[in-house]
Amino acid sequence: MKLKDIGWNYDNTYLLLPEVFYAKQWPEPFKNPYWILKNEKLSRHLGLNSENLFTEDGLNLILGKVKKEEMTPISQAYAGHQFGYFTMLGDGRAVLLGEHLTVDGKWVDIQLKGSGRTPYSRGGDGKAALGPMLREYIISEAMHGLGIPTSRSLAVIGTGESVHREEKLEGAMIIRVAASHIRVGTFEYAAKWGDLEELQELADYTIRRHYPGLKNLENPYRSLLSQVIRSQAELIAKWMGVGFIHGVMNTDNMTISGETIDYGPCAFMDSYSLNTVFSSIDRQGRYAYGRQPYIGQWNLARFAESLLPLLDEDSEKALSFAQGEIEGASEIFRREYFLVMGKKLALVNPSQEDIAVIQELLDLMESTGADYTNTFRALTIGEEESSEMSSVKFDDWLRRWKERLLARGVSMEEAQTQMKKANPSVIPRNHLVESALSAATEQGDFSKIQRFLKVLEDPYSYSSEQDEYSQTPMASEQPYRTFCGT
Ligand code: AMP
Ligand code: MG
Repeated sequence: MKLKDIGWNYDNTYLLLPEVFYAKQWPEPFKNPYWILKNEKLSRHLGLNSENLFTEDGLNLILGKVKKEEMTPISQAYAGHQFGYFTMLGDGRAVLLGEHLTVDGKWVDIQLKGSGRTPYSRGGDGKAALGPMLREYIISEAMHGLGIPTSRSLAVIGTGESVHREEKLEGAMIIRVAASHIRVGTFEYAAKWGDLEELQELADYTIRRHYPGLKNLENPYRSLLSQVIRSQAELIAKWMGVGFIHGVMNTDNMTISGETIDYGPCAFMDSYSLNTVFSSIDRQGRYAYGRQPYIGQWNLARFAESLLPLLDEDSEKALSFAQGEIEGASEIFRREYFLVMGKKLALVNPSQEDIAVIQELLDLMESTGADYTNTFRALTIGEEESSEMSSVKFDDWLRRWKERLLARGVSMEEAQTQMKKANPSVIPRNHLVESALSAATEQGDFSKIQRFLKVLEDPYSYSSEQDEYSQTPMASEQPYRTFCGT
């Protein structure tokens, strides 16, 4: 079988960059790999031939069992600020198998994660366990269903070997598809260890790949900075809108494309609280739900610093431009956030008065510990006497909200139609994800995952199958904790 038989329009443009940016690396030869989850829909969407891809031959081809001249897999070099501290990193357990040129002329990365040691593995084994790989598959596909830019999951593959963590676990890999894996950390790496030419080559490559419109502008690098600020502000606002907490917003996990990547300790919030943290390693709450816009801005400041030599020949001018952009980011983040929140209440393009109403609801939810998704769901379907909102204060708020709608000339019916597009009826709630995962990893029963994935495909459909998924967690299922998916 050849790459063209699985429909892979193979390219590897990353190899055009200087060699400091990668190391050639094949996946480890696992003895008995097998398909676990296959994303037929994504495969078709990419123009791949799933009938050939999801076979034993297809698997052997992807894993490089028959090393093909036509394939040059690499691991990418990058650095990053992890919890505020700068470190050299790189793909320690992933290889970029190559890029796929889609029918609409875009390159997407096809990456294998959990594929064994690489020159960037440091002390790690380069491997991954089945549970975390299934979790990444579920959550990334759910994010796509929610309409949030994200890496996608093409498949989960069992390695047929065990990995050793605190206990012995089944080993697995995921095939991840992303617009690219260029990160803020890739620029930090270039700025720290590359020369000016290498930094510029990375910036030019990134512009060509993600923001080709900027190429002919007077200073494309300044525009790149502005554009990435905008993309990240839009992305993080969308996360906030659905109660998503990335959990490990280190600069190496922040893309330049504006897609969400690296589903490690991420989770969705149940009760609304700005301080929500699920990750067991985030003891200070650095990456708490409500801090995400500020951390986004902090990370973008690291991006701006890396770009400094390209922003202006005069270092004073470069610095002053970068500072202006980063300061201005606060307002962009705020605006994007209220645009998203406004849509959730049919207050499109919210005015100051509307914003006050949005804020009041949030404060109320915070003080009562109301379930975030279900409160908006109840408002969307007109279940105002729902248990989430059974207090006198909510009645006052409802009255004020309805006044705002009236002032805009939006009927309740219209409002609800709009709100159905902005408020998911189902999200991958932690306790439901856990229950689907344990059925799979402990009993080998994948039917729960399959059903859940189906429901998450269209979280805005308000279909009756979604009702059971709006159940909030029981006290015994809280507090929920996540772990870095190593
Ligand atoms: P992450 O938390 O997944 O973003 O990973 C942070 C860094 O640690 C990246 O450079 C990963 O490639 C690396 N890493 C994570 N797990 C492993 C592992 N089991 N073996 C080697 N490197 C790893
Ligand atoms: Mg990472």
